[in-house]
Amino acid sequence: MSAPVSFAPWQRRIYDQAASSLDAGRLGHGLLFCGPAQLGKRAVAERLAQRVLCQQRGADGEPCGTCRSCHLIAAGTHPDYQVVSFVMNKEGTRLRTEIVIEQIRRLSEQMALTPQYGGAQVVIIDPADAINTAACNALLKTLEEPVPGRYLWLVSAHPARLPATIRSRCQRLEFRLPPQAEASAWLNAQGHADAAAREALDAARGHPGLAHEWLKGEGLKLRREVAADLAKLGRGEASASEVAQRWCGDEDAALRLRHAADLALADAASLTDPVRARSLAAWFDQANRTRDLLRTTVRSDLAVIELLLAWRAGEAGRAQGGTRK
Ligand SMILES: [Zn+2]
Repeated sequence: MSAPVSFAPWQRRIYDQAASSLDAGRLGHGLLFCGPAQLGKRAVAERLAQRVLCQQRGADGEPCGTCRSCHLIAAGTHPDYQVVSFVMNKEGTRLRTEIVIEQIRRLSEQMALTPQYGGAQVVIIDPADAINTAACNALLKTLEEPVPGRYLWLVSAHPARLPATIRSRCQRLEFRLPPQAEASAWLNAQGHADAAAREALDAARGHPGLAHEWLKGEGLKLRREVAADLAKLGRGEASASEVAQRWCGDEDAALRLRHAADLALADAASLTDPVRARSLAAWFDQANRTRDLLRTTVRSDLAVIELLLAWRAGEAGRAQGGTRK
């Protein structure tokens, strides 16, 4: 009997495709699971690993969930299965933000050994785009010398950040945003009411994983607050510094800027005035650049004030001349 697995339809499509390649003996040694974050790439890779390693697969080819291999995978102790991700720094004070060469060397050594269960060996690296340059070179060697039954799978939301030499040695499994009807139906199945699901999906530009997260948490409420702040700012009812202080006051600053950029874009699409539409597009870019600055050491609140002042100037210009549809 198969272990229960509840894939979204877009996950199911990729899984079925990879599973049939595996069963036909055509599955690549190196795979690159890529596509937007929060579409469940890692879960598909993990399930596929279980399918590779299970010792008594069902008639449908699915892993049994009860054999020794399946148990060890579930416990995270299967000797022929590794997931490489961020580890603690040397001081043990925080997680590293890179995957470093020692980790890649260890997995290469492991992959050179005979699998302990006599079957295959699977290594998943997630997020693969966090592998630093030195580690990439070491990884490339492993990818260049494929051994039958040894699988090295990379998971990445930003595959363009990987060196072309690595990408070219991997078979690509590309996750895409699903059609809107499928995304809505999935959100409904997660327990979200129709109207809220539609609003969230709209705000997330069709990304069901993001919409789901925003519906579970504060994401949509935050978006409404950002819209209200921008409107007040435009009418001169709030100052840029006061709004900036609120936006930068907690860990949601990046999400607020993302919403602000999206709202500007949506606004631009509803305008007939080409001058204001262009200025909104420029503001969209500025908002995204400001969001990138949040990750650096720059005084991000100053950049946010500048952004908000630009918003107010643009809105003042619109009040004088622009017309709306
Ligand atoms: Zn099994």
